[in-house]
Amino acid sequence: MFASVLIANRGEIACRIARTAKRLGMRTIAVYSEADRDALHVRQCDEAHLIGPAPAAESYLVVERIIEVARKSGAQCIHPGYGFLSENAEFAEACVAAGIVFVGPPPSAIRAMGLKDRAKALMQKAGVPVVPGYHGELQEPGFLKQKAYEIGYPVLIKAVAGGGGKGMRRVDRHAEFDAALESAQREAKNSFGDARVLIEKYVAAPRHIEMQVFADSHGNAIHLNERDCSLQRRHQKVIEEAPAPGMSLELRAAMGDAAVKAALAVGYTGAGTVEFIADGSNGLQPGGYWFMEMNTRLQVEHPVTEAITGLDLVEWQFRIAAGEKLPLTQAQVPLDGHAVEARFYAEDPARGFLPSTGTLVALQFPDGVRVDTGVEQGSAISPYYDPMIAKMIAYAATREAALEQLASALDRTVAVGPRTNLALLSSLCRAPEFRAGTFDTGFIDRNPALLGSAEPDGAAAALGAARLLEQEWARIGRSVNRAADEPPSPWDATDGFQLSGARVMALPVLLDGEPAEARVAYGRNGPAVTVAGEAPAADAMAVEADQAIYVLHRGRQTVVRPVQAGSGDVDHADGDGQIKAPMHGKVLALLVADGDRVEKGQRLAVIEAMKMEHALTARRPGRVAGIAVAPGQQVAEGARLMTIEAEGEA
Ligand code: ADP
Repeated sequence: MFASVLIANRGEIACRIARTAKRLGMRTIAVYSEADRDALHVRQCDEAHLIGPAPAAESYLVVERIIEVARKSGAQCIHPGYGFLSENAEFAEACVAAGIVFVGPPPSAIRAMGLKDRAKALMQKAGVPVVPGYHGELQEPGFLKQKAYEIGYPVLIKAVAGGGGKGMRRVDRHAEFDAALESAQREAKNSFGDARVLIEKYVAAPRHIEMQVFADSHGNAIHLNERDCSLQRRHQKVIEEAPAPGMSLELRAAMGDAAVKAALAVGYTGAGTVEFIADGSNGLQPGGYWFMEMNTRLQVEHPVTEAITGLDLVEWQFRIAAGEKLPLTQAQVPLDGHAVEARFYAEDPARGFLPSTGTLVALQFPDGVRVDTGVEQGSAISPYYDPMIAKMIAYAATREAALEQLASALDRTVAVGPRTNLALLSSLCRAPEFRAGTFDTGFIDRNPALLGSAEPDGAAAALGAARLLEQEWARIGRSVNRAADEPPSPWDATDGFQLSGARVMALPVLLDGEPAEARVAYGRNGPAVTVAGEAPAADAMAVEADQAIYVLHRGRQTVVRPVQAGSGDVDHADGDGQIKAPMHGKVLALLVADGDRVEKGQRLAVIEAMKMEHALTARRPGRVAGIAVAPGQQVAEGARLMTIEAEGEA
């Protein structure tokens, strides 16, 4: 076994790898960017080395920097995790050239699987079923359109260099083909520098079923059962589980066989995942699954496989990289119980899954489930990296019990600061169709109610306003409980007004940055606060931070601020479209460039102030002009950062 490992990654996966490496007695070496100085993975490793500024292209993706640190620190091997350099053949080669073991497959296997068209051709040759379609060289639009017609609609256009669902378009009608092709090619060109596409039959009621494979350098290859990752949003996984609902022993053996064949065909070693798309319209059926692609690394969702097999996949990766043989034969691979993983993200499902940055002012995980995380209370979710907060994995004897356990764990999770997808995740765990095992990759899109409402949550807002009121009275030395008679007006600028009967005061607040009004009625039992007619939620929790009350109500966050305290998200633009710093702070990121067209609400820059990140958004559509700051720069309150010129202005 190796004596030391450099972990070329960050976040939860760097922490996860370090855990196993330590157990195996290795010295753990972390790398980090300037944005990650205080990150958990830095503290959890034995030593850590700065490799560059926050943007990944200048730090976690710089091959030479990482190899240099590995050399200097005497790392015997490099574990790339997932993402970043994990599927970069040049990086794997650079490791070998430096005499350091790359914990992953040989560069040739990474290359063979790197492009979807080549991988498909290879798989076809090896006798693995592939989705019917066209994956040839010719890219002439008229020709591709003819191919789509021959395949039969609906079809899926995919970037050959694709990943993360980018450059992918479903086309239902011949008349829509040209426009879809154009936009897929444009996105592919922008994301991967390669506009080439392939065309596939769009599988009906698609289920995403993937097989975990392992191969050693002695010619052995096995699979560790399947994972079902069909709960997706925009072709990205949200909830994963193992085993797949409705999977039969025969089908598992057949799909496992195909996956092992795929691995052997490219001379694979280490951990890999062979992804299949299955036609779920009649349950999983023999002959109803096709190869999609192979991921030549550890997957995000590997913990569900660990749960049902009782194995540590990272340990297997290290052992195989060190030249050991696979520790089990196919027949010895266990499969016990059921595991479900939820990807807990700082994002806003109700607003198109927009990432949400900022400091996690409160973060508490429940017990009873496995939590893989790279952040803790006080950590910032920065705009530079994937905004995952944690993976939560439940394991029980049955699927029903595992889903129940996960739902309950999600309910007991507290995350305050950025918006999160907690409410979506727990609704998914409780959705009757998903519970029944009748779902496919379109499930979330077909059920937009799961995404929650973008309308203000009155009950949460009322609780927040009531807390603000209490605070204010505490500050001026009065108790809410005995204030029934002649309460002071906490916001002097907004004196109470009278309605017939009870005394009612209007209390202006900012709800998630938008002006709103709470009403305070003074009756015999003290003040009663309402917002939009709703009383304070009894089943919510409130946290005070940054002069605001963060209310967490059924997994959804509402931030309530007193109006005159100011807010990071409003009041930074005046009528001329000038974007000004809301407070003294540091420019963390510029998200636009001079001349860019922006939409109303689009994020322009991120400023860090008082340990909070504030996203500045465009208050109107227009064009960016006169950017006056650079990332890293300190700015004074009120300093002009840029101007948004209305279209038509000079
Ligand atoms: P990427 O590499 O961009 O993630 P994949 O080829 O892995 O792209 O596909 C991602 C997702 O797109 C799959 O999990 C599935 O939901 C959907 N998908 C891919 N191919 C098909 C297909 N032929 N029919 C239906 N859905 C598909």
